[in-house]
Parts: sequence; structure tokens; C-alpha cells
Amino acid sequence: MKILIDMIKLRAAMIENSTMTLPEAYFYPSANTNGLKTIRELATFRFTCRKCEDAPCISVCPAEALEKDEDGIITRFTNLCVSCKSCVTICPFGTMMTDFFKHHRNRDILYDLKDGNAVEKFIKACPAGTVTLTDEDESPAKNIYRLNDKVLIKDYLYITEKQ
Ligand code: SF4
Ligand code: SF4
Repeated sequence: MKILIDMIKLRAAMIENSTMTLPEAYFYPSANTNGLKTIRELATFRFTCRKCEDAPCISVCPAEALEKDEDGIITRFTNLCVSCKSCVTICPFGTMMTDFFKHHRNRDILYDLKDGNAVEKFIKACPAGTVTLTDEDESPAKNIYRLNDKVLIKDYLYITEKQ
């Protein structure tokens, strides 16, 4: 059984209720040494980010907290990030949300998806239909992609000509 997070519906829910604080989740298959990053941040960099060649978000960052991995996916070093949000402002595609960069997260709405009870609570806390359990696997025809062994993301994938 996998957890399917529908980023398309989540964005729509946020637009409908702009004052809503979204519950957040994280899932680390092994010990994490690079600071806590939420699934929404990881999914956004993986699937929504246009992977700009000159990546203005990287060059504007005053803390050298952003870099591209070998697949061209932006990664943020949370231990360096000072939450200035310059990257959010300069991104021409509005990829990043300011709430990705909160240093102090409300533990009451932060769920570890390695824990079955937390998964149930996360599903209940999220807007209806945005997070579900599924036996399905990755299915590009349905805009469903694998983030990791346990989490699937539904989103429109940005594909460049090079890909
Ligand atoms: S919010 Fe963090 S990652 Fe973004 S520009 Fe500022 S220091 Fe860099
Ligand atoms: S500027 Fe925006 S779209 Fe371009 S690489 Fe950075 S986050 Fe991605």
C-alpha cells in the first residue's frame, strides 16, 4: 500500500482557502542527515521545478544553500538556508512556496509517514481527497509519479525538450 499525495488538488485547496495552514508530512527511508524537508518541498523540486539551466534561485541565494544534484534537481541544505526567501521571489515560475522555508514547524501538523498511525492522521487532517492510500504504482498516463518507495505524487510533470 502506498500513499498518494495529489499536489494538483492540494494547490487548488490552498487557492480556495488562502489562510489554511496545510498539514505537512515527511518520509525518510533511512537516517536523514540533511535537515527536515517536507514531501511537498521534495515533490515540488522534483516534479514542478523547470530545472532552469542558469537556475536564478541558486545564484540569488546568499547562503549557498541551493544546489542541483546529478539529475538537475534542486536540493536545499536546510542547515545553510536562512529563510530569506530570495529564491521564492526570483523564481520566474512561482515554483516555490514561502512556507517551505519555515525554520520552526508546528509539530502538531507534521506527520512522519513511516508511522502507520501518523499516516491515518495525516489523511484525516488534509483537505478531503488530497491524500489517499492506493495499491497502484507509478502511472505517467495518470500523472502519478514515484517519489520514494512509499509515496506517490500526482502532479503535472514539466518536461524540457532535452528530456
Ligand atoms: S530562502 Fe534559503 S534557499 Fe532560498 S535564497 Fe534564502 S537562504 Fe537560499
Ligand atoms: S528558478 Fe524556479 S524553476 Fe528555475 S530552477 Fe529555480 S526553482 Fe526551479
